[in-house]
Amino acid sequence: MTGRAETAPTLGILGGGQLAQMLALAALPLGVRVTVLEPDAQAPARLCATHLPAPYTDPAGLDALAACDAVTLEFENVPVEALDALRGRVPVRPGAGVLARSKHRAREKETLRAAGVQTAPFVVLESGADLSGALARVGGQGLLKTSELGYDGKGQARVTSNDALQAAWDGVGRVPCVLEGLVPFEREVSLAVARTPDGQVAFGPLVENVHRNGILRTSVFPANVPDGTEARARDLARAVADAWGLEGLITLEFFVLPGGELVVNEVAPRVHNSGHLTQDGGGVSQFEAQVRAVLGLPLADWRPLHPCAMVNDVGAADPDATPDWASIDALPGTRVHRYHKARRPGRKVGHVNVVAPDPATLRERLAALEALIP
Ligand code: AMP
Repeated sequence: MTGRAETAPTLGILGGGQLAQMLALAALPLGVRVTVLEPDAQAPARLCATHLPAPYTDPAGLDALAACDAVTLEFENVPVEALDALRGRVPVRPGAGVLARSKHRAREKETLRAAGVQTAPFVVLESGADLSGALARVGGQGLLKTSELGYDGKGQARVTSNDALQAAWDGVGRVPCVLEGLVPFEREVSLAVARTPDGQVAFGPLVENVHRNGILRTSVFPANVPDGTEARARDLARAVADAWGLEGLITLEFFVLPGGELVVNEVAPRVHNSGHLTQDGGGVSQFEAQVRAVLGLPLADWRPLHPCAMVNDVGAADPDATPDWASIDALPGTRVHRYHKARRPGRKVGHVNVVAPDPATLRERLAALEALIP
């Protein structure tokens, strides 16, 4: 008997960092070939995908992506020129509409509120005149965030007086910003939702996140939240997916208020650092979920089967402060993920997942793991 030749689906990715690397690693077993367009010659994804080392707007590079079955992305700030060049030639998922909202904090918040989703109180600052009375309107203390290009706490300043607000606005170069009121959250959680082009919707787990210096330090599943919180987060995620016409995957970051209410902090149009623990929780990973959603493959919820957690490996100020890899490898339930990136202060260079049969054992293992990662 002779079989028919099977053709491998092809996926293009704008960006070649660690998220693209892990998307490619998840795509390969599905029989999917991946091409990444990424100017950095040393980008992590080059090791497991066809790497086009060219700017995101390079015509030949975009032609190669346009020849794929679908294109996705690993960062929100994709140049509009790249999206324009691909329009009508290949589906880009999530598409330009989702990206335009998620990469711009003010637009994001306005469209979230229009979808019935609560956000932090905020004031849009576009000119110096907008500063007057702004702090009082968000409750007297707030966070100034640049409208675009901010992540991991970059482009942010905490302000508690009008003078400090003026200084912070001067400090970011008087670019458009939002001033957010400080949300008195009890904890932070996140949840991803994916939708295939034919409308199948599936959800990732509700994950609890702890930040250090504005950068994610740990994520834990299951989140320690009251019953009903996950269902509520799913409802909100579905409302955003519907309102934004999602094809592909987005991740919502939430603040949980003392009464259990959920406030959306921001939306990433892609897999998210807080979902990395799904790689080792025994179910489908967030990376496989994004590949499936983007290519229109069958998709179900990708909740882990076991309690699991993640600790980020972020470069410390002291270059000699590195994780104790030998001891980490010896801990039960750990899986190491390294991105093949040079270690620099504040730069994410890897993460370690840990799984356990029950939440109490997970807590013990996580504490032991954290002690080995500076
Ligand atoms: P972001 O870059 O907006 O995700 O912010 C990074 C972290 O700063 C968040 O995960 C929170 O821990 C904290 N943060 C951001 N915005 C607020 C806010 N409006 N109120 C309180 N904390 C915040």
